[in-house]
Amino acid sequence: MTYVYVLSKSGRPLMPTKPARARHLLKADEARVVRIVPFTIQLTIETSEAVQPVYAGQDPGLTQGVAAVRSDGKVLFQVEVKCRPDISEKLTERRNYRRNRRHRKTRYRQPRYLNRKKPEGWVAPSIRQLKHEHDKLRRLVEGILPVSGWAIELNKFDFQKMENPSIKGVQYQNGPQKGYFDVREYVLERDGYACVLCGSKINRKLYRFRGKSQRPKNLITLCGECYKKAVEKKIPFEVLLENYRWTARVNVMRALWKPAEHIKFVTAEQVAAFRENHGLTKTHANDALAAVCEAYGIELQPCDIHVLCGRYVRRKNRQLHRANPGKGGVRQPANANRYLINKSGVRFQKYDLVLYRTRSDRKIVGYINTLFSRRTVRIVDPTGRELYNGASINKLKKIQNADTLIWEVNNGVSSSE
Ligand SMILES: [Zn+2]
Repeated sequence: MTYVYVLSKSGRPLMPTKPARARHLLKADEARVVRIVPFTIQLTIETSEAVQPVYAGQDPGLTQGVAAVRSDGKVLFQVEVKCRPDISEKLTERRNYRRNRRHRKTRYRQPRYLNRKKPEGWVAPSIRQLKHEHDKLRRLVEGILPVSGWAIELNKFDFQKMENPSIKGVQYQNGPQKGYFDVREYVLERDGYACVLCGSKINRKLYRFRGKSQRPKNLITLCGECYKKAVEKKIPFEVLLENYRWTARVNVMRALWKPAEHIKFVTAEQVAAFRENHGLTKTHANDALAAVCEAYGIELQPCDIHVLCGRYVRRKNRQLHRANPGKGGVRQPANANRYLINKSGVRFQKYDLVLYRTRSDRKIVGYINTLFSRRTVRIVDPTGRELYNGASINKLKKIQNADTLIWEVNNGVSSSE
């Protein structure tokens, strides 16, 4: 079951409709398509703008879930979106290139350090991006559905009371930990009383990174099984570190959300209880659904809605320096163009959603990933898997302009005009 989202002539979101009715409206020229995924149409005729109350929920995290329900419990929207995991690594990479370049090209100058102050309210770029990606998804939902209230799942651990959300190193010791009886309790709360690898709450143990101190920064919560694997070194150190970092990042990000009148916060325990009472499987989309029903006291109707999956991607690839220049010290010409224009003047860029017909008349719907100077592109699916390489831009049809949030597309079906 899917819905078609409807905007009024003036652009305000109305109640969604069934695909059959949308097709009828489009055929009668009473609406036009404004967005392919999630499929949204805008009416071209005047109608009443009366709507029923719609509430939406969000489960924050590296993979965030969002759900929207009508006040009578009908589920109208459910998505799961992966956030960008590479911000921190990309910044490190850039820093390495810069250092290397200055080492080669800049003459000696006096070292300068300790002369830069972080402005008030500064947060790490990885967290800033994470927050942006959560806000953007909420804005998207508010743009296609008449949302009158939000519910956000919050961990039991209340970072909101903290004055400085960007905690680092030694601050752990005398900052947030104050008021907690011991380190164990603090770490458990921080990690939401669950294994940071698999989310299990059974037989929790604190794993300490080898050779590190007892500070919370070096401790993560693992279940019995994961703990055993970690001790036997079956889980790479990087995986452990990455999981710990995400838990902390999401917690810090939550602290940045200012309490607002139309946003209610729900604890993870309430969400888990609601999910179990209603027999919902543990997914991020269902967590979001549970959060909104719990917060606004909505009686959930049985739902068979298709959960749409999406992913955030980078806008462009502005790499001035290559890590491995071609042999002989000469930098290879970058074969990736920023954009290409075809014969009819249509401009294509990375992550445009396009339709391509192969010679054997196979329909391919996917995202542009690489643009070649020979005026062809490589088309990939939303996960980055190659669908077709070498599609001529003159035979491409653009379905939707590039965006940093890309969605799954059912190949060959979603292009039904
Ligand atoms: Zn585990």
